[in-house]
Amino acid sequence: MTVQPLTSPSSVSHAATVITPSSDVKPWAGLIETYRPYLPVSEKTPVVTLLEGNTPLIPVPYISQQVGKGVKVFVKYDGLNPTGSFKDRGMTMAISKAKEDGAKAVICASTGNTSAAAAAYARRAGMRAFVIIPDGYVALGKLAQALLYGAEVIAVEGNFDDALTVVKQMAENYPVTLVNSVNPYRLEGQKTAAFEVVDVLGNAPDWLCIPVGNAGNISAYWMGFCQYHSLGKTDKLPKMMGFQAAGAAPFIAGQPVAKPETLATAIRIGNPANWDKAWGAKDASQGEFNAVTDEEILKAYRLLAAHEGVFCEPASAASVAGLLKVKEQVPAESTVVCVLTGNGLKDPDCAIEHSNNQVISGIQPELSKVAQVMGF
Ligand SMILES: *Cc1c(COP(=O)(O)O)cnc(C)c1O
Repeated sequence: MTVQPLTSPSSVSHAATVITPSSDVKPWAGLIETYRPYLPVSEKTPVVTLLEGNTPLIPVPYISQQVGKGVKVFVKYDGLNPTGSFKDRGMTMAISKAKEDGAKAVICASTGNTSAAAAAYARRAGMRAFVIIPDGYVALGKLAQALLYGAEVIAVEGNFDDALTVVKQMAENYPVTLVNSVNPYRLEGQKTAAFEVVDVLGNAPDWLCIPVGNAGNISAYWMGFCQYHSLGKTDKLPKMMGFQAAGAAPFIAGQPVAKPETLATAIRIGNPANWDKAWGAKDASQGEFNAVTDEEILKAYRLLAAHEGVFCEPASAASVAGLLKVKEQVPAESTVVCVLTGNGLKDPDCAIEHSNNQVISGIQPELSKVAQVMGF
């Protein structure tokens, strides 16, 4: 029997659909490989990656128009990372370094996305993943992910801040590595988002608008911009504009909030672990912290989806809600990047509850009936 050789792509009849990589296009290798010289990794580091990063910087013309003055607004859609949030950027670093150190288990407190990312990367690295969540305040998609990725999920009767206190104590007393954003490798990985923004724009934006919860990401972006600036890859630094939910706004209150409340569960945090770093970034960049209400968040959330085709989770929409709130302050002709930290599919309950549209149901499958409800 003769074995037929596999058909080579060039001989396939539907050749037009076959993508032949041109010699100058390199497949994306994940953010550690791409930014290796700027990260604390060595030849010995076992890289644990799901090819995270390289997320699109999408122009948002409708929002640009709302701001006016020739301002160009982009969204950094980090919801397109492998587990659906920017947490993957930090987790590829944190888990790779934990593996390098011989860790067998990791632990995190989480409003949801950290647990999803920790679970995926830890399990890929053959480690146990323990996640401590505030009971009843984790979006459905995130819980589904942590469970299916194989995390051991423990719900505590308290909020995120209580959960973080417990996991810090666990990591001090037991052989588990803490992978919350107090782990310095997390911020190292997350800073690559700033590199990507500069690599695409050719310079830093004038403003960076970002949701603030535990305040790791704003600190990481600032690290990234400063590092690129010192390397001469950007000749300016952005104003760091951080937005908290009005019910969970310790930076606006100037002190921790004991009972944070917001439907944007990813930023429902009353005592940010990276308090000093975030204030350093805000002050050094002459930026600001502002609060946005849940109503403003939901408005931006619907607007992003219905006018721009970008579905993010509620916490992420705080960046756009914030920009629209302080748009008078944006300099004319400037470039603004709003960070969309997580994917809208994480929280389907919120989408269904707060959509302007509803399913029109109870319709017979007949042309005349369907045409009638369509208004024809
Ligand atoms: C974690 C998270 C945030 C908050 O980021 P911090 O680094 O804690 O400030 C915002 N949005 C989403 C979707 C997140 O998962």
